[in-house]
Formats: sequence, C-alpha cells, structure tokens
Amino acid sequence: MIDTLRLTAEEAKRLLDSREISGAELFAAYRAAIDERDEELHCYLHLCDDPGGDGIPIALKDVIGTKGIPTTAGSKILEGYVPVYDSTVVERLKSHGLRILGKTNTDEFAMGSSTENSAFGPSHNPWDPSRVPGGSGGGSAAAVTGGLAPWALGSDTGGSIKQPSALCGNVGLRPTYGTVSRYGIVAFASSLDQVGPVAKTVRDCAYLYSIIAGRDDRDTTTVELPQPVELPEATDLKGLRVGVPKELNEAEGIEPGVTAAVQAAIARLEELGAEVGECSLSLSVEYGMPCYYLIAPAEASSNLARYDGVRYGYRAAAAERLEMYERTRDEGFGDEPKRRIMVGTYALSAGYYDAYYGQAQKVRTVIKREHDALFETFDALVSPTSPTVAFPLGARTDDPLAMYLSDVLTIPSCMAGLPGLNVPCGLSEGLPVGLQLVGPQFGENALFRIGHALERAIGFDPVPERLR
Ligand code: GLN
Repeated sequence: MIDTLRLTAEEAKRLLDSREISGAELFAAYRAAIDERDEELHCYLHLCDDPGGDGIPIALKDVIGTKGIPTTAGSKILEGYVPVYDSTVVERLKSHGLRILGKTNTDEFAMGSSTENSAFGPSHNPWDPSRVPGGSGGGSAAAVTGGLAPWALGSDTGGSIKQPSALCGNVGLRPTYGTVSRYGIVAFASSLDQVGPVAKTVRDCAYLYSIIAGRDDRDTTTVELPQPVELPEATDLKGLRVGVPKELNEAEGIEPGVTAAVQAAIARLEELGAEVGECSLSLSVEYGMPCYYLIAPAEASSNLARYDGVRYGYRAAAAERLEMYERTRDEGFGDEPKRRIMVGTYALSAGYYDAYYGQAQKVRTVIKREHDALFETFDALVSPTSPTVAFPLGARTDDPLAMYLSDVLTIPSCMAGLPGLNVPCGLSEGLPVGLQLVGPQFGENALFRIGHALERAIGFDPVPERLR
C-alpha cells in the first residue's frame, strides 16, 4: 500500500529506482487518493491521464502553460484555452521524467489569498475543510498536504506560494526573482511573478527547485544560478546568523498562537547553534503593502489587456466588435481582476503616473536597500509567514482590504526580489503555523539548510489530524 499522505518525492524516487513500485502503480495511487478526497478538497481543475514512464508525479498550478492540457488561471475568460506549447518549467519537468497529475485551483489570475476568487469555486484546507487553504496557490498546497500529489509547482507574486504552504502546513519556496523562467506562464505582475516548488519536506523542495532553476533564453530576466542547489543534510546551524525583524514579528494582527509557535522555533534555531539577533525593517513593512498594491495592479492592467475575446478563451456573443470586447471582458473577468485593472489603469494614467506608479518604484528601491543592508549581518531573516492560521471560508470575501492583509508579512521581501521559504513550525488551535525564512539574492541554499535543521528538530507531522 502506498501511503500518499506521507510519501515524500525523495522516497518515491527511491522506490521507483529500486523497482519496488512501478510508475503506473504510483500514478494510480495518487489518482485513487484524488478520487477519494478531491470532491471535498477541490484541489484540481483538470486531471491528466498517466503519460507513462517511471518518473515522479507532480501537480501544477493552473497558471502554468501546458501543451495540450487546459490552462485557465482560475478564470472564465480562459475557459477552453489549451496552450499549443509547454512553458519552460514544464519542459524541464518532462525532461526529468516527471509526470503531470493535473492542474490545480488558483484565485483568478493568481489574485487573492484564499482561492475564493477562482471562477471554479474554492479549494478547501485538508486540516479543516470549512477553512481556506490560502491563496492564490491553494490548490497546489492543499493537494500536497491532502496526499493528492507528492509535490507541486505554484507561482508567487506577493505570497501565493509561501502563504498557502503556511496555512496547509507544508514547505514552499518563492525563489529569487530571475532564477526560474516564466516563459509560458500566465502573467500577473511581471516584475514580481516567480514560479516555485511546494513539497512535504525541505529536501524535496530543494530538489524540485534544482530541476526548474536556471537561465532560459526565452525569459530574459533569468540568470544561471551562481552556485548549484545543495540538498540540505546538516542538522546543526553552527556559523549561521539569523535576524529577527521586529516589525515583521510584532505587526498588528498577528495571532498570539502564531507568535508563540514562531518564538519557540526561534529558540530552537539558537539551540541548533545559530546566532540570533534582533533587527529592523520598518520602512519595508510600513510601505510594502501600499507599494505592492500600486505596482502589481499597474502591471496586471497591462498584462490582462490581451484578453479581448479575439486571441484567447472566452468570447461573448455580440453584433459588433467594440461591444464584443466590452462584453467579453465584462462577462469573462471576475470582480478581483476588474478591481485591479481599474486601480492599475488609474495609477498608470497620464497625470497620475509620476505620483503613483513612479513613486512606488522609488519606494521599492528603498525596500530593496533596507533588506540588502540587513544581509551584511545576517544569512536569513525569520518571521511568521501569515499573521493568522487558516481562516474560515467566507470570512474575508466581502472585505478586500482584510484579504490583502493576509500577505502583509510576505510582500516586503517579494518587492525586494528576494527568496523566501515557508517551513511549518507547529500548530495553533489545531491548525498549522508557518515560519518564513527570507534570504539574500541567490541565498536559497542557506534557507534550505536552516529549514531542514528546523524541520528535523521540530518533527512537525505534516498529515492533518483528521486524516491520520
Ligand atoms: N495575495 C496577493 C495578491 O492578491 C498575492 C498573490 C500572488 O502572490 N499571486 O495579489
């Protein structure tokens, strides 16, 4: 019997390599788990047939373009769209023999923090199906924790890998901006979007990152990694310096149970040999959110202009062309993309550009410099990933600002282009608490090392109590 709730990708690879199980058996085990639990969790928007072979199965967030497989980005406007080419990350997965289980649910165009903005209905948290799995990549995170995929890819603009991993209790990496190709990915905010792994363990996360990272001529923002990805082994943290940014740990709205679990984990870091010191990110935390909510919608308004009913997906019936454009966009986009298109178009309009978009770009430089200065002293920064544990479905849907605040702790480092890793660090009220580790540009190896040692020391059980 293959226990998909516990099987790591590393162990799956060992079983496949030693021929203790076949690729077909493994794929079928995940399909059986999907049949059993996906009606409740709604992680998948589309399931794939076993393509054959002996590689490890994987799930992909539905913003990742897949040749011959529908790719909707959680939007009605892309319903029926089937890409004619693979994104670069999918090419890389395939060349490693990985096999796609299906496409996972996401907030529409990755705009949201709960998957409730998906045009196809929300996903549910495997720890408590009355709660959200986080977002936008809630489908991928819930699939990994629910045993419906050994690992998955997500995308992260302001927290969409890290925050769902925190709420579901698994490991998620938002890589350094420019290390993973976005060729073939549905674009949200191009100066922020990154693709990254979601997994059960830090080692699996590092391994998947090593498969997808590296330069791609078709995405000119990408670079070759300056050093290879190291799978973490050490269980001590001697010689590593970890900073605790005051404002990220004491921000308003952080639940006491979250603070308690993160504080306990910080004490563990010291026990493991790390040098821990307090530091400050006052400007980044104060201005990160307002700055993000100018830059991300501005870029989204431009990226989403291409959905006009002519080239992709949905087209409304109309007698003449202008009416067709208008009705297609009116009927095809949900409320959140519409809200952002309006905000973004306004911020970019002549007369307001300098005051809003231009100013936000300058503030972004300040945020980057404030982070860079800390990395002269520290190898990584630590804080909660999400201020709260998973919240009930519906709790924030009527209040966009409350929803936006879910990402107050993840956004600053995203604005600075820096890598961030979520590692589960305990439970509060029976729900997972995530710890965020942020590193300097290309500092993933240190994050993996710290995350791995912490994971071993804490011994967090990634299987939700109700499924054990
Ligand atoms: N929740 C944030 C937003 O709505 C971040 C989303 C993301 O990272 N894709 O923009």
